[in-house]
Amino acid sequence: MNVLVINCGSSSLKYQLMNMSDESVLAKGLVERIGIEGSQLKHEVPGKDKEVIKVPMNDHKEALTEVLKAIVDEKIGAISSLDQIQAVGHRVVHAGEYYSASVVINDDVMQRLEECITLAPLHNPPNIIGIKALQELIPGIPNIAVFDTAFHQTMPPKAYIYPIPYELYEKHRIRRYGFHGTSHRYVSQRAAEMLGKDVKDLKLISCHLGNGASVAAIEGGKSVATSMGFTPLEGLAMGTRCGDIDPAIVTFIMEKENLSMNEVNDVLNKKSGVFGISGVSSDFRDIEEAAAAGNERAVLALEAFDDRVKQYIAAYAAAMGGVDAVIFTAGLGENSALNRKNICEGLEFMGVQVSDELNNVRGKEVVISPADSKVKVLVVPTNEELMIARDTVELTK
Ligand code: ADP
Repeated sequence: MNVLVINCGSSSLKYQLMNMSDESVLAKGLVERIGIEGSQLKHEVPGKDKEVIKVPMNDHKEALTEVLKAIVDEKIGAISSLDQIQAVGHRVVHAGEYYSASVVINDDVMQRLEECITLAPLHNPPNIIGIKALQELIPGIPNIAVFDTAFHQTMPPKAYIYPIPYELYEKHRIRRYGFHGTSHRYVSQRAAEMLGKDVKDLKLISCHLGNGASVAAIEGGKSVATSMGFTPLEGLAMGTRCGDIDPAIVTFIMEKENLSMNEVNDVLNKKSGVFGISGVSSDFRDIEEAAAAGNERAVLALEAFDDRVKQYIAAYAAAMGGVDAVIFTAGLGENSALNRKNICEGLEFMGVQVSDELNNVRGKEVVISPADSKVKVLVVPTNEELMIARDTVELTK
């Protein structure tokens, strides 16, 4: 069975065509600058040259049309006809409180996704446009939605309720939703397999550390706490997002800096995080380089970032009454030995140890704690596309 996985962002689109009989990737790629001058499609088929196709793509439907054209192209394609695609899996960001698992898309689902636009005004609209486009471009095959929020719907009320007037939850559904759910679910399952245990018997803390970053506490395979909240702005410091701050800072800087609501939103989402502290970059590679060269604010940014991850790990161990393994994933988590080491340093009191030798690794599935570490520490490269494709197969059986 061939499954097409689609992830529509506001001006970009990622795709992967997978053969699910052996979970191999037949084609993958990325469209950038949709609706902006200079739009292009980067397309890749294993064993063939990478292609960059520069052609105007005014909206997601035009972009998907180009993607499908590339996939079935005689020269650069992977299959000979669209009939060879049996189902499509879509990454959808927000399902509110509606779905705790992936679903086959029908009219009811579409209506609920529309309702959730108020909760994810930047993300759900392109997801919805992508679904509608695919339904038209390859009619008659199932489309499946896999939600970023779904995995965290198992959180107990005490973990998702905010200490603000309860009426605001009832009226506007203001609560913690959490994101990166597909990634946390994937790495927790892989970690259990790597440890030779059933995920149902484990208490895991998964650290998804990329440009966006979140930590999740996963007990018995279920998310019981996570650091992102009502929006992806809460929790860890991130590339450019502030994460946890005193909420009073918001109105304070609005007044002192004479900022509108949109402007303050921009400061907290796009100018904060490790970029805001360091003034160097939102990319951890640049910050690590600057820190190594002695830039004090870059050092401070890394220390502040790592410290928060450390605190979340300890807090979530407390929330679960223990932890069997800590997992690192996503760009920074998979690649930065330095940050992994600094995050785990100081957690020895609760049984977390990291071996310098084992930690000297990038982008591979490895246990980086020494054999006698009470708590195992693992690097597990995430694979959200594979998780989406697996759900798609499962739901179309
Ligand atoms: P997202 O999907 O959230 O955009 P990724 O998971 O791809 O992000 O992570 C991207 C981030 O990972 C980059 O901003 C970069 O800071 C960090 N990163 C990637 N490789 C390395 C590396 N070798 N060392 C340190 N940081 C890295």
